[in-house]
Amino acid sequence: MSYKIATIKGIPIYVHITFLLVFLLFAFIFAISGWPFGFRSVEPPIAGYILACLTALLFFVTLLIHELAHSLLAKSYGAKIQSITLFFFGGISAIENPENEKNMDPSKELNIALAGPLSNMIIGIVLLAFNYFAYGSIFGVPDVANWVTEGLTTFTANIPTMIFLLGSLNLLLGLFNILPIYPMDGGRVLRAWLAKRHSYEEATNTAVSIGKGFSVVLAIIGIFTNWWLAILALFLYISASEEGKMFKATTILEDIDVKDVMTTDVLTVDESMSLNDFINFVFQKKHPGYPVTKNGIVVGMVTVDDARHVNETERYAFTIKDIMKEIVSVHPDATALEAFNEMGAHAIGRLVVLDDEKMVGIISRTDLMTTIYLKDNFKNKSKTKTESETEY
Ligand SMILES: [Zn+2]
Repeated sequence: MSYKIATIKGIPIYVHITFLLVFLLFAFIFAISGWPFGFRSVEPPIAGYILACLTALLFFVTLLIHELAHSLLAKSYGAKIQSITLFFFGGISAIENPENEKNMDPSKELNIALAGPLSNMIIGIVLLAFNYFAYGSIFGVPDVANWVTEGLTTFTANIPTMIFLLGSLNLLLGLFNILPIYPMDGGRVLRAWLAKRHSYEEATNTAVSIGKGFSVVLAIIGIFTNWWLAILALFLYISASEEGKMFKATTILEDIDVKDVMTTDVLTVDESMSLNDFINFVFQKKHPGYPVTKNGIVVGMVTVDDARHVNETERYAFTIKDIMKEIVSVHPDATALEAFNEMGAHAIGRLVVLDDEKMVGIISRTDLMTTIYLKDNFKNKSKTKTESETEY
């Protein structure tokens, strides 16, 4: 549910639907909060609402600047930027490493991770300093009424408040993002810094552990001060450990070829099989999905789910051919990670393994999960290979 809003320097910019909700929430909070955190007392109220919306809009522009800072720096290092998507609280820059580089050079990665939060801190400091030098206070103008009587409109007199809000939010955002909690920017800075001395894998594991520890500290501080902080810390802890697991899975799957984990004795069904027969067949064999053949050649894929949509009374009239789906295939020499990503992209649980149009096996999500579990528990850690695409 993302909408493309612009293209900047060849990078498509998307806005996710959740982002619009947060935009409205921010505008609402600015509208109902009193000085200096909002425009509640602005007269007429419509001027207050306009100021609130404008502040929310400009704040999201600064979020985009944060993502652009990551992306444009990465681009200058030769990386390919697929897209920027603005999500619920912040954004994601999908950055692909330069060709032939499995991992980005740690110093470059450190700079890329740092660029985002740094851009917010600079914006924050500049805006607050502007208020300070122009109006004598970072909060802007405390006595707006006085300014209005001097001939300024209430709208222009409240612009310093807007500058204060944008400046302080940017400063907060910058400081928050730089916390060493992986996968937040600060955690990536830490990981890149560690990767200069250790292997990429060790660096990630250490960064994940430090991030978890930091979240716990943040949660404890939150319990005694602000419950929102505690809840946020919990989310950060979860995302750090999820990211850690994902990294481990990725590392394992990348080292394995599809042909080493696929199932070779594949049960197939003929496209002329009736739906009733198919359901009986599934009851006997107990697999959820099967390749469909026609004269011995694979022509499609059928799952129990496809059959479920047909009314029970109409099943006799249908054959597999009517309900089967297109095959999604993978080459036996592809990595298990490629198979995993392919399944994700098509939202399916199994792929047919094809070698020159000939089916040599089938690989399922369950096969991959079992492999991850076994490799993780019964074998020494593999070589250090890692993802080639990163999200900031
Ligand atoms: Zn960032």
